[in-house]
Amino acid sequence: RAKERGRNNYCFYGPEMDHHARRRLTVESELRRALAGGELEAHYQPQVDLATGALTGAEALVRWRHPERCLLLPGEFIAVAEETGLIVPLGEQVLRAACRQSTRWREAGRPDLKVAVNLSGHQFRQHDLVEQVCDILAETGAHAAQLELEITESVAMADADGSVATLAGLRRQGIALAIDDFGTGYSSLSYLKRFPIDTLKIDRSFIQGIPADGDDTAIVQAIIAMARSLRLSLLAEGVETPAQREFLVAQGCRSGQGFLFGRAMPAEDFHHIIARAAAA
Ligand code: C2E
Ligand code: CA
Ligand code: CA
Ligand code: CA
Repeated sequence: RAKERGRNNYCFYGPEMDHHARRRLTVESELRRALAGGELEAHYQPQVDLATGALTGAEALVRWRHPERCLLLPGEFIAVAEETGLIVPLGEQVLRAACRQSTRWREAGRPDLKVAVNLSGHQFRQHDLVEQVCDILAETGAHAAQLELEITESVAMADADGSVATLAGLRRQGIALAIDDFGTGYSSLSYLKRFPIDTLKIDRSFIQGIPADGDDTAIVQAIIAMARSLRLSLLAEGVETPAQREFLVAQGCRSGQGFLFGRAMPAEDFHHIIARAAAA
């Protein structure tokens, strides 16, 4: 069944997994095996300059190449990884893979391309996070300036003082920091001012409604105005249509990511895009 669907087609834990507790146990034990056996891989979704379409980097998104179930999306296993703490070794594997790719991109003549990696709350609260990240940079030859780490608002807010210290530690290394899914958590100007961050990623749920939906349009305009006055960079998530792109460009949002520009793809496919562009 898996073979019929091809190498990069997604699939799901089947209906036999309906029972929540059984499903959770299965996913947990299979995930342990996956972590040990190298079944997890990072795929890369292009990030672009919205006005020109030029490639500026990619977000690393985890996929599970399950031996019997083909390719699984994070929605099938991230929650279990969070609940069991397996998200820590998972996140470390993704970070290492992403850093390796950024070294490859640099060596292919693209030191300007950034790689963005998601950090879960568990990872973010590891007391030696900065050291772990530095070790991975050294081991993979990646440059801190090519790396951006993303945390959600709720992760940052869970322990605001601790977050300020951790973010500052990462920043001292030259790593860029982004707030993911911005607008869906407890946005408040006072914490945005305190957190040493570089970028706000506007959540896809607000991008969906622009330019037709009045509420979404107002929210996106407010976020853009706020980012401008706080001197933060912006990236719009989930850009799917030319109309959304045009609206964002007109409002002054520089960067975007979404199906309009490309879906997450295996490292080899992303590397081909770079190599092809370099040869052209
Ligand atoms: P996220 O960090 O908000 O990542 C963006 C998600 O939106 C990705 O889903 C991406 O494929 C999807 N997306 C991008 N553009 C579009 C678009 O134009 N339209 C639509 N409908 N969707 C779009 P994905 O890969 O399924 O990941 C889901 C979530 O899983 C991520 O949301 C992130 O929270 C989590 N995740 C993925 N990889 C990792 C990881 O390595 N570590 C951690 N801690 N979490 C991860
Ligand atoms: Ca993200
Ligand atoms: Ca996001
Ligand atoms: Ca989102």
